Amino acid sequence: MTKRSVEAIIPPRELHYVGDGFRVHNFIPSQLKLGMQRMNPFILMDYNSKFYFGASERPRGVGVHPHRGFETVTVAYKGRIQHHDSNGGGGIIGEGDVQWMTAAGGILHKEYHEKEWSKKGGEFQMVQLWVNLPAKNKMDPAKYQPIENDKMKRYKSEGAELEIIAGEYKGKKGPATTFSPIHLYNLKLEKDSEFSFSFPENYNTAMLVVEGSILVNGQEKVPTDFFILMANDGDSFSVEATENSKLLILSGEPLNEPIAAHGPFVMNTREELYQAFDDYNSGKFGYLKD
Ligand code: MN
Repeated sequence: MTKRSVEAIIPPRELHYVGDGFRVHNFIPSQLKLGMQRMNPFILMDYNSKFYFGASERPRGVGVHPHRGFETVTVAYKGRIQHHDSNGGGGIIGEGDVQWMTAAGGILHKEYHEKEWSKKGGEFQMVQLWVNLPAKNKMDPAKYQPIENDKMKRYKSEGAELEIIAGEYKGKKGPATTFSPIHLYNLKLEKDSEFSFSFPENYNTAMLVVEGSILVNGQEKVPTDFFILMANDGDSFSVEATENSKLLILSGEPLNEPIAAHGPFVMNTREELYQAFDDYNSGKFGYLKD
């Protein structure tokens, strides 16, 4: 076992809206020197830090839009999110739930605050990740995996509870099926408790402090809403909570393939991007009512 060090601690910088319902800080790719390649297969991370949305009769969100070439993974921490796609997939996720949509060959979807929740308003906090697909799976059929909180596998130790969404921890396997090796967890850690991880050195690895504050490897102090990029210089690292905390942890084997990205499409070549626009414009992504 060799120690994996911290490469960068990144504050939540500029803010932008996705539609009118997602008020997000982007960490991947905009805050990383190698852009989408640095955390590949995690090619995008938008984080809606805790924000109070007032009551609205019309649910806020983002209207019908396409995706091709990757998966969108939404992790809800506060509030309720609804989703509909052109494949008939859809559902509502609330606190602690995850929706895992494989756009692959092409899908249309819309994402918005759940109607009844929206009427009352409240605190809203979520993460959206884009998980890249290997070239051989980019044109696979679309699919949808709802992952309710009680379906996640749990690993408990003194003052710690790990929810395994995808991948595994000490032999416990999460419910999500993935196309390349990925570990995705939420960790709840009580003040002064410690937890450690070990991933192969080449796995791109990062954490987001969703609540509280932590020490990484006993020295780097990181507050709420900060993103921690781990170096690829070792396998193991530890976190210790300096107050009751919640973390999102992601680690995955890099896909060593070129990335050609534009807007909602992430492919391997420019030609495939042009094809995606053509196919979208000629209705090959199906139909979804606005
Ligand atoms: Mn989307």
